[in-house]
Amino acid sequence: MKQTMQFTNFNAELNTDVCDAYNNAELTLTLKLGFQQINPTGNAATGTYHDYGDPADPLRNIIRWTPGAWSTWKANFVSSAQQFWNGKFWLVNDSGLFQYQALGQTFVPNIYCKMKIESSDGTIGNHHNISVVRLASSETWFGSHSTLYDSRDTDSVNKATDSQGRAIMQRAHVHEVGHLLGLDHVDVGQAHCPASGDTNASACYGVSDASLNSVMGSGMTIRLENAAPWRNAMRGFAVANALQAGPPTALNLLMPYSRLFAFPTHLLASWPARLTRHYPRTLAEAAAGMNITSRITRMAA
Ligand SMILES: [Zn+2]
Repeated sequence: MKQTMQFTNFNAELNTDVCDAYNNAELTLTLKLGFQQINPTGNAATGTYHDYGDPADPLRNIIRWTPGAWSTWKANFVSSAQQFWNGKFWLVNDSGLFQYQALGQTFVPNIYCKMKIESSDGTIGNHHNISVVRLASSETWFGSHSTLYDSRDTDSVNKATDSQGRAIMQRAHVHEVGHLLGLDHVDVGQAHCPASGDTNASACYGVSDASLNSVMGSGMTIRLENAAPWRNAMRGFAVANALQAGPPTALNLLMPYSRLFAFPTHLLASWPARLTRHYPRTLAEAAAGMNITSRITRMAA
């Protein structure tokens, strides 16, 4: 079964048709992005544009997009951002929902987290619209933000330095896609970056080397907490499905891990994230709290 839900930041699809003894349910978050060219005024070949689009900020030299440069840039953006965020997390099913039969046994699927970007040049019906300037080769920097990019925001750039003096590199667009999925900067909420303050302050991008290196800091490392958009989506699907699933069966109540299968816990499931593949579990394995992290041979019951 494929189910879809629309969230503020993305559309989500839960696909349980792919479940078998080895394959989990798949949760795909789809971001619809509209890209708009910013070109020099008057159809000129060259022109200028302000950092952050703010007239109070410095002007940078820009050049007109060509159809070829535009489609290449967009294709690179989409493929590299998808490659970064797609297939990085597995959510452990602590709800007991979505049970299915395979090899004569009942399985509980975990959730494989996927991400897809659909791009268009239109401005209607997108989750986010992004304007893009094409920087002249003479420019080394442009002030971009989550809805205003420059053509080099897909390049790997030295964003910070760690405590050993090593450069920390980041491709800005994968960080920005993290924001578009709903993620904050890595240290938001910590004492040096109060959530109510300026969360763009440099301390919010991380103080420790580990935080600096994270994708929602200044680097390219994925963290478990970055699975939050997928976990939020699964809570949405779990609530919707728990309402249809009804009260627990007598069999479920007898299971040692029965709290997982009792009706209210469908609603309280937290879908903990993992960075390694977690295979589907039999009901007995789930009940025992086992995790299956390598491919074991499944026999028909
Ligand atoms: Zn940011």
